[in-house]
Amino acid sequence: MSATRLLLLGPPGAGKGTQAERIVAEAGIPQISTGDMLRAASAAGTEVGKQAQGYMSRGELVPDEVVIGVARERLAQDDAKRGFILDGFPRTAAQAEALDRLLADAGVALERCIAISVDEEELVQRLLKRAEIEGRADDNEETIRNRMRVYREQTEPLIAHYRKSGVLVEVDGRGDIDTVAARIAEARD
Ligand code: ADP
Repeated sequence: MSATRLLLLGPPGAGKGTQAERIVAEAGIPQISTGDMLRAASAAGTEVGKQAQGYMSRGELVPDEVVIGVARERLAQDDAKRGFILDGFPRTAAQAEALDRLLADAGVALERCIAISVDEEELVQRLLKRAEIEGRADDNEETIRNRMRVYREQTEPLIAHYRKSGVLVEVDGRGDIDTVAARIAEARD
């Protein structure tokens, strides 16, 4: 059986969202993207959206307590009982610990953390291209560099956390979408 409680970890532009959508289509488990949820909250003008907006536009992390609340509510929904693909959460040690506790309380465990690696210059090029196509407010070069730095300092150390818990699989994120999807499918087996 392929793993269904997954975390995709990787720098901005590594393809987490794209690959998560593939898995949603194939395995019918929901994608839980805190970035997408925060953007939706911000567009809808909710309290959470207002709290998150400024951080997001600067490429900084939204405070842990805000993001943990968003993730907790989403994971508690019915469709997440069959499994989930976390994309963009956790991003800090405190978030990872909160997730460990949340899952333990629910009596389940993360089955795989799939860490996708791509070198930084390729990432910046991919994100600048996405900026032209999608026009996302945080896809300009200065903010992109900042998101990379935040990733290296705060999120990359989580790789060691998941290696320690025995669920880590590292996947090469270079190449086209199908090639990377095949590597991820293998990592879920
Ligand atoms: P990226 O493509 O840069 O990985 P996301 O769509 O996942 O972007 O997130 C965009 C922004 O949303 C982040 O730069 C950050 O401000 C905020 N964000 C998303 N998830 C989190 C999180 N888990 N913790 C803190 N901030 C977050």
